[in-house]
Amino acid sequence: MMEFKTGLQFAREMDFEDPLKQHRDRFHIPKNPDGNDCIYLCGNSLGLQPKSVRSYVEQELSDWEKFGVEGHFHAGNPWMPYHELLTAKTAKLVGAKPIEVVTMNTLTVNLHLLMVSFYRPTPARHKILIEANAFPSDQYAVKSQIRFHGFDPETALLEIAPLPGETTITTEQIKELLDFQGDDIALILLGGVNYYSGQVFDMEKIARAGHAKGCVVGFDLAHAVGNINLNLHQWQVDFAVWCNYKYMNGGPGCIAGAFVHEKHADDSSLPKFSGWWGHDKETRFLMGPEFKSTPGAEGWQLSNPPILPMAALRASVDIFDEIGMDALCAKSNRLTSYAEFLIHQIENQTIAIITPSDSQQRGCQLSIRITQNGKKVHQLLQKSGVVCDWREPDVLRIAPVPLYNNFTDVYHFVEILSKSLRV
Ligand SMILES: *Cc1c(COP(=O)(O)O)cnc(C)c1O
Repeated sequence: MMEFKTGLQFAREMDFEDPLKQHRDRFHIPKNPDGNDCIYLCGNSLGLQPKSVRSYVEQELSDWEKFGVEGHFHAGNPWMPYHELLTAKTAKLVGAKPIEVVTMNTLTVNLHLLMVSFYRPTPARHKILIEANAFPSDQYAVKSQIRFHGFDPETALLEIAPLPGETTITTEQIKELLDFQGDDIALILLGGVNYYSGQVFDMEKIARAGHAKGCVVGFDLAHAVGNINLNLHQWQVDFAVWCNYKYMNGGPGCIAGAFVHEKHADDSSLPKFSGWWGHDKETRFLMGPEFKSTPGAEGWQLSNPPILPMAALRASVDIFDEIGMDALCAKSNRLTSYAEFLIHQIENQTIAIITPSDSQQRGCQLSIRITQNGKKVHQLLQKSGVVCDWREPDVLRIAPVPLYNNFTDVYHFVEILSKSLRV
């Protein structure tokens, strides 16, 4: 249990002692009209721009200018294998082997591509298990896949919700559901971190329980990558997908990521939608008519990837690699616990944190349920220079990001929240 104190002086002391404090300066913090830094608590939606992005992108612009098509081979970082520059660091970030990860496409596209391979329903086993309040794109993707295979989402989609009066879904609940219906479930697809509540799922236990019932287990890590420690290989997760514009700071609409466990690396029986970039690298440019997959996650690539977004992403991935997730998670835990501590000091019956208080079950996001005038409170926060978001029906989400947020940000946020609740 960490000891916190109220008062601005304490926040300043925490900032002073913060071993990661210097990294805030490596990011562009948006300004308020008065010229001061805003209180940016929205890194769960769009991460801030590392100042180094410009030089990474400029290098590619300049190499394109100089080399034209020859840049594929002669650019400072040749474009042909450019995505491989991200492989080792991405693998480290998600706890995978290099052969298990690839940077490609965007999140929902990757989700579809991997469901083509990993959702193979039969009449006896065709259900998909998701969270009841899953991110809409995931719901649409899953329902369309079910229909594509000729089944009906009404019966084929199982949605698990928190028990009455609870705000999170327990592992026990998932296990019970699997005991009861596991034999009907083809695919379990959960968020590593639920986007609404901020709850972290116990991916290892869920993967084990799912596999024991013969289900394929995949995770959407949109809110997990760059936020919590991941160990996908060891956890035996079959596949995972994520975007790189939230905690990963790759920029709006940035190229996304995918993980396919090594156990599937050479499985040629998996159905796969294919394109030339997934073809065996040695023979890709023989341009033959038959697809021969490159082993591992790279075999799911379709197109030659966009270099400029990958350059932007590299700037941020290099920062993550330099600092490491252990140090980031340690600060994240302090910063989020501090936010929780201060919010608990607010005397107001209309607010409650729905994110678990156990640090194992959350990353840096806190979801605050506001049962009266919540939308108005959100507007007042925005007017006062706080950037955070509102999710219907009644949740304010804040994400104090350890890379660039500090204790003073959190202090001022709670002060403004407290004032806004009293209006
Ligand atoms: C952010 C997010 C998305 C967005 O999908 P895109 O394909 O990147 O637009 C999808 N699913 C989840 C769970 C998300 O958090």
